[in-house]
Amino acid sequence: MYLAVVFLALLTIALSTYFLSKNTQLREKIQEDADAQILKPKEGNGEEDTKTRIPISVNYHLTRQCNYSCGFCFHTAKTSHVEPLDNAKRAMLLLKEAGMRKVNFAGGEPFMNAKFLGQLAQYCKSTLQLESVSIVTNGSKVTPTWLAEYGKYIDIMAVSCDSFDEATNVKIGRGTGKHLQKFRQLAGLCEEYGVMFKVNTVVNRYNWQEDMNAAIQAMGPKRWKCFQVLIIDEENGGDKTLRDAREFQITGEEFQFFCDKHKHNACFVPEGNGVMKSSYLLLDEYLCFLNKGVKGKTKSILEIGVKEAMKDVYWDEEGFQERGGEYPWTKPSTGGCGEGKNPELEF
Ligand code: SF4
Repeated sequence: MYLAVVFLALLTIALSTYFLSKNTQLREKIQEDADAQILKPKEGNGEEDTKTRIPISVNYHLTRQCNYSCGFCFHTAKTSHVEPLDNAKRAMLLLKEAGMRKVNFAGGEPFMNAKFLGQLAQYCKSTLQLESVSIVTNGSKVTPTWLAEYGKYIDIMAVSCDSFDEATNVKIGRGTGKHLQKFRQLAGLCEEYGVMFKVNTVVNRYNWQEDMNAAIQAMGPKRWKCFQVLIIDEENGGDKTLRDAREFQITGEEFQFFCDKHKHNACFVPEGNGVMKSSYLLLDEYLCFLNKGVKGKTKSILEIGVKEAMKDVYWDEEGFQERGGEYPWTKPSTGGCGEGKNPELEF
């Protein structure tokens, strides 16, 4: 009798422990899933999470100021702040130590601060030896003198062009009538100074039916990124923002129509809204990571460090890889866009 009671007591303890542990595991799993929805969907034992929080490629929007006024702009001139050069350099160093391999300088228009941009690019390429330093620019303020001094530190120059009909560029706000002339000049200058030339096009209400094949093939960019025009509520979403991009919006089918017309070009890289929103790591003019359209930004990486900031940033690394975020981004010698396949761009 005594043995039976002891046995029953032990069995009860064992079963309770088992169910308690199961319960805890279940709660942890639910919590994990909830976290994953906020941060990043991942499976595994946690090691992968550490790996995926490495900021491989970072877009530093060093200024919000711009000399153009594109109606769909989604990084508008809410401030005129630019960090002191030493702070920006320190941030680049921290990012490099955290695993950054490529930096892309963007804006606003980064050439509003041309000297700052050149000195920072030099630091990133020459001192930090990053694999790739790139710039996204509207092209209007890039000069031969600047390229002669700093071109050697730049792997890629991505220049915006939404139409090969100047009237459409003007309607969009992409300059006041000389954009194409400057754009073509810059393609030649990039070649002269050994910088890979890339084209960025925002596909929108005014250009989605345009046939750009011949013009793009004549220019031969290394890469041609075509973005579906994007609405970010706090930037270009409506009446209270500096821009209202709603009149530029197109449907997924219209974007697909544009892609179908141009996808045979080896350099063509389409990017729909879903991919754009979450697959970029965006550092703003205060050196804070942005969580566009998801939640507020992080604190400055100079204040809390990169590791801490990365815990609070929404970044879909799978989306980053799926959109070809990692590609041959260090200057190669030759090659360009045409009808045929370019092996350098097969990613
Ligand atoms: S050039 Fe770029 S930063 Fe300037 S207004 Fe146009 S989209 Fe915005």
